[in-house]
Amino acid sequence: MIIGLTGKNGSGKGEAAKFLQLCGFEYYSLSDILREVLSKKKIPITRENLIKTGTKLREEEGYGALAERTLAKLTPDKNYVIDSIRNPEEVRALKRRDDFFLIKIDAPQKVRFERVKQRARESDPMTFSSFVEMEDRELKSKNPAAQQLLATEKLADFTVSNASTIETLNDNVRKIIAKLSRERVRPDWDEYFMDIARVAATRSNCAKRQVAAVLVRDKRIIATGYNGTPRGVKNCNEGGCARCNSFGPSGANLGECLCSHAEENAITQSAYHGVMIKDTLLYTTFSPCLMCTKMIINSGIREVVYDAHYPLLDISLKLLKEAGVIVRKINS
Ligand SMILES: [Zn+2]
Ligand SMILES: [Zn+2]
Repeated sequence: MIIGLTGKNGSGKGEAAKFLQLCGFEYYSLSDILREVLSKKKIPITRENLIKTGTKLREEEGYGALAERTLAKLTPDKNYVIDSIRNPEEVRALKRRDDFFLIKIDAPQKVRFERVKQRARESDPMTFSSFVEMEDRELKSKNPAAQQLLATEKLADFTVSNASTIETLNDNVRKIIAKLSRERVRPDWDEYFMDIARVAATRSNCAKRQVAAVLVRDKRIIATGYNGTPRGVKNCNEGGCARCNSFGPSGANLGECLCSHAEENAITQSAYHGVMIKDTLLYTTFSPCLMCTKMIINSGIREVVYDAHYPLLDISLKLLKEAGVIVRKINS
């Protein structure tokens, strides 16, 4: 889950971020990317310089640049809090992740000014009139590459009022993440096993194509396999298989191929460990070739779930069907 925070200066985004960090969320701030840029160039970190650099970066790399740079650092398995989101394109970039939610932290202007005065950070304005003037400038910029706080706030999925205590703020943020956690959509079993197969495929040493298969019983993986030359033989991508390294048409000259297929390797890995695979489900990133189809049938695999089509699909499908093996193409 990724929680984005937006809000005007002094609204309490920092406090909300601190609370989320206590809850195990990893912290990122879009303005830290600007601080990094300024530090590298040895330019003083002032509010004005941060804003100027932000505008320049958005003009050069696209309005969502700060978000894009931050997204590149995130993995799908962790919870993150991202602070200082100030442009709607940053929100749109982050919303490409469907587990991203934007929270707007809100507080009255006078309250925010008092907080800013106490904090005294990076040339923050010290009088109420300069605070109001600065805020007007930031909120009403006509340059789409500049901060667009009002337009950004409008994209918020939740608004939290922070006019009173930190405890109330934390409590309201806690309620939001508890709700999101309850509603979180997990991948279904097909997606889960196919995703694992896709990761296994990245280990393939075949020069021509990366394929993997996962054998599953009772929703548990009992074997995996990816394509490549047999154990102890020079890897395909290092020249081990002349047929693959000639990069000819798919499905042609298979008889000369030295690479074992993913399904074949999942089946032989089970034999290697003496694991029975009768009545299992086979997830494969590619529909099986004729040779693997025959092995699938005779090893007693009950069901085949595949992702992409292989050129020899029709004859394999016909044979699997005739032998009573269930075949499904995953919806992806
Ligand atoms: Zn190969
Ligand atoms: Zn095959």
